[in-house]
Amino acid sequence: MDSAAPPQLAAIRNRISAAHKLFGAPPEQVELIAVSKTFGIEAIEPLLGAGQRLFGENRVQEAQGKWPDLKARYPDTQLHLIGPLQTNKVRDAVELFDVIQTLDRDKLAGALAKEMERCERRLPCFVQVNIGLEPQKAGIEPAETAAFVERCRDVHGLEIIGLMCIPPADQPPGPYFAHLAGLAKAASVDKLSMGMSADFETAIAMGATHVRIGSALFGSRPPLTP
Ligand SMILES: *Cc1c(COP(=O)(O)O)cnc(C)c1O
Repeated sequence: MDSAAPPQLAAIRNRISAAHKLFGAPPEQVELIAVSKTFGIEAIEPLLGAGQRLFGENRVQEAQGKWPDLKARYPDTQLHLIGPLQTNKVRDAVELFDVIQTLDRDKLAGALAKEMERCERRLPCFVQVNIGLEPQKAGIEPAETAAFVERCRDVHGLEIIGLMCIPPADQPPGPYFAHLAGLAKAASVDKLSMGMSADFETAIAMGATHVRIGSALFGSRPPLTP
């Protein structure tokens, strides 16, 4: 039996279902990805104990330090990679993660396809879109999204299930989420990974199927180490 949900988890689940009820389906359900980057096993376990099974990490190496043990104990956990993936980390990523959300270039698509074939572990992927055309952010350009999704499927044989984005930090996110939803339609993918602690209700209003929430669940993170 699941233990009582920690208060933040219960509050976020309530806000997700309220937003979903208000703005209507589809999707049938909005998936909560608990973003546990920078937090240790002691912070993650209460959520697992309360039945949360989707988690996101943005660094392969950090995830390797905590998730093999947790996944052994909670085998139905689904771990999403939501940070940039270097091709030299593809082997480790395919071994540990269950979904890759940051596919954004052909070289990476080729490397993922090869590794998935080698270890017979075919992970669903999201294509990351640089929705604000920000030079410092990863992602395929919006105008190239449909063609890239098609190449990932037809040339590389990858299973592309959706699009993911991180809108510019200093602007209202709604128009960017709406843009991503339009791109998904044009590229014939169903899932939309968008919305974080500060803006997930807006993302749900624009059709998010997956919201990625860190600080609102775990508290604020220590500043990033260089
Ligand atoms: C850290 C992170 C999140 C979670 O951000 P919060 O604002 O803490 O909810 C979501 N998506 C990505 C890609 C992240 O790196």
